[in-house]
Amino acid sequence: MIKYKLVCKNCGNFFDSWFASSKEYENLKKLKHVNCDNCNSLKVEKTLMTPSILNSKKEKPVIYKNKKYTKIKNTIKEYQKFIKNNFEYVGEDFAYKARSIHYNNKERSKGIYGNATAKEVKELKEEGIDTEVIPWVNKNDN
Ligand SMILES: [Zn+2]
Repeated sequence: MIKYKLVCKNCGNFFDSWFASSKEYENLKKLKHVNCDNCNSLKVEKTLMTPSILNSKKEKPVIYKNKKYTKIKNTIKEYQKFIKNNFEYVGEDFAYKARSIHYNNKERSKGIYGNATAKEVKELKEEGIDTEVIPWVNKNDN
């Protein structure tokens, strides 16, 4: 799942929207299914290129349930399995831990994964810290 911050060019409203993938966003946009939640205008654009990672129970995503999504979700679950087996989970401390590894040249056998905001990911990338953003599916999210 990818969250985009969208802006309405018609009324200036900022709002968040969830998509299964960046490709799905492009498709929905093309089909004119992405509109402002305030004024329904179709003049909606992404404000950030960096999506954030979904791994939080606090935010309930809007999910487009279809066959394509199930297929994407299974692919994501395969990634997650790999990551869980090969990376250490650091939760909300992701940005902090990533920096401490980067600046202290700590030797680690395992990479780390966790939650970060789009802003944190952007900052890490600007500091030259290798950070990948992947979509994330919660276990109880069917
Ligand atoms: Zn609007």
